[in-house]
Amino acid sequence: MATYTAPVADIAFLLQRVFGFNTIMAGLPGYEEVNVDLAVSVMEEAGKFAADVLEPLNRLGDEEGCTLENGVVTTPKGVAAAYRAFAEAGWCSLSGDPAYGGQGLPWVLQILLDEMLSSANLSFGLFPGLTHGAVEAIRHHASAELKATYLPKMISGAWTGAMALTESSAGTDLGLLSTRAVPNADGSFAITGTKIFISSGDQDFGGNIVHLVLARLPDAPKGVKGISLFLVPKFLVNADGSLGARNSMSVGALEHKMGIHAQPTCVMNYDGATGWLVGEPGCGLNAMFTMMNAERLFVGIQGLGIAEAANQKAIAYAKERLQGGGADGTPGPVAIINHPDVRKMLLSGRAFAEAARALAVWTALQMDIAGRHTDAAVRKEADLLVALMTPVVKAAFTDFGFETAVASQQVLGGHGYIREWGMEQYVRDVRIAQIYEGTNGVQAMDLVGRKLALDGGKLTHRFFALIRAELSAALPTAGEGLVAPVVEALARLERATQRLAESGGGMETGAAATDYLRLFALVSFGWMWVRMAAAVPVADEATPVETRKATLARFFVERMLPQTLGLEAALAHGASALMALPADAF
Ligand SMILES: Cc1cc2nc3c(=O)[nH]c(=O)nc-3n(C[C@H](O)[C@H](O)[C@H](O)COP(=O)(O)OP(=O)(O)OC[C@H]3O[C@@H](n4cnc5c(N)ncnc54)[C@H](O)[C@@H]3O)c2cc1C
Repeated sequence: MATYTAPVADIAFLLQRVFGFNTIMAGLPGYEEVNVDLAVSVMEEAGKFAADVLEPLNRLGDEEGCTLENGVVTTPKGVAAAYRAFAEAGWCSLSGDPAYGGQGLPWVLQILLDEMLSSANLSFGLFPGLTHGAVEAIRHHASAELKATYLPKMISGAWTGAMALTESSAGTDLGLLSTRAVPNADGSFAITGTKIFISSGDQDFGGNIVHLVLARLPDAPKGVKGISLFLVPKFLVNADGSLGARNSMSVGALEHKMGIHAQPTCVMNYDGATGWLVGEPGCGLNAMFTMMNAERLFVGIQGLGIAEAANQKAIAYAKERLQGGGADGTPGPVAIINHPDVRKMLLSGRAFAEAARALAVWTALQMDIAGRHTDAAVRKEADLLVALMTPVVKAAFTDFGFETAVASQQVLGGHGYIREWGMEQYVRDVRIAQIYEGTNGVQAMDLVGRKLALDGGKLTHRFFALIRAELSAALPTAGEGLVAPVVEALARLERATQRLAESGGGMETGAAATDYLRLFALVSFGWMWVRMAAAVPVADEATPVETRKATLARFFVERMLPQTLGLEAALAHGASALMALPADAF
């Protein structure tokens, strides 16, 4: 069976030729020494760890699953040792704040590492992924004392993190949650309630597990304004930093689920567990959003990671599998990669994965600029662009990621449906990414309802102007045939945006959201393809990965971008057909 190969050559192309990584880093204080050579060598090592250590555990973990006996969670064989090796090698602390022992490397490298983890072993990647999100929330909102106690151990990977929002009656609508927090005399709080679906809620790697729990203080108002955030550790921490008594919280059950079987998804019972307030009372959702925004980008990257791995395996299979005669009259059997329909499935996955990686790198660069640029106005604009792009990355990458996993499975025919080749696991594992961290429908509502309105709607216009300017600048090298269709698709997106702005919101916003987000993503991918095509060096200097970029760009523009025509047409009809049928007539 083909094994996963980390896309290091593509990463080098993006950093070196498309985004001018060295120039951007040179302008960010503290990153002057970070350059393409360093980034590529880090990514080569990450790729080795992913392929050599994590991928071999992927199938085993899926088959063995996690168990809960006498309240103790056990992860599948090999996972705990792999996690410890991962932490010891320094991967947990890659982008961590140096003030708490992190290596402080750019977000770009973190996101590319996250892609590799997701490709090799999605269940495993959630352990460090959730810890990062928890670190971000603590770093931005917790007291100095909590930060000093928890951040160094979480950043090093010695302790892991979990995010506890969901309850049986409170999913998307967190305003309905009922977990309670009652003040103790010493300034801590007693947390009581049951949370469901808690990823990494427990593990057997040793160390502590730091839960960030949403709960209500006594007399808190109903709805989201009454929610506060609490840090609730599995073990209380002694004054010297060592682990003390077990906190009164326990795993009630492990959820039985479709995929990510090596990931313990827990029902958590908090029985007067000791916790500490993070941020201000009543501002819990705000603090949790810091964690959720980091996680949303991470979950989008999961979609990309699975697409990359599934597509790689489908390509390898399609080159070997002999079936039927060639469409050009070549006598059979020929390798199925020669059949146009199989090529369409393979190229769709490749064209998505490479455009999504480019867009992920662009977004992560904005995060790095937002964190370090010397000009406050530049930092603010970069921050707004990340906010705009977050729901697009989360929802579009996971929707296209799932579609790519299914198409890759289809390339293997019946062999994709049975277990042997691992394709059905990709489909099962990636499916959750469309659901958790806010469903993709909710992400689309976030884009049309909140993000388009950022800076009074002016941010979106500036973003479209940026794309238009870059398309025009790329025209001499990328060529009219590639650039003109993307300019037309951008005009479709602008018209759809204008229509939305004039629609008056309400039903119209909800009815447009999902189609609009896909239109937005396709235009963004087209923009990335033009940038990549324009950056390919002359033929004799190009690597094989670079040489095929122009062909992939053409495939994207001719066979995928036209979806924008249908999306614009559907959006133009508005909400009326969706809302015409009374609920009891369904
Ligand atoms: C394996 C797994 C791991 C998870 N990990 C975690 C975790 O670590 N921590 C945690 O707290 N939670 C976790 N979750 C929970 C996950 O985030 C929720 O399942 C998700 O947010 C959706 O909530 P729900 O399941 O209650 O669906 P609902 O909120 O009931 O939504 C059902 C449907 O209605 C739609 N919908 C709901 N409200 C609206 C609206 N206002 N407008 C339009 N459409 C709407 C949704 O898009 C969806 O299609 C996990 C879930 C699973 C299955």
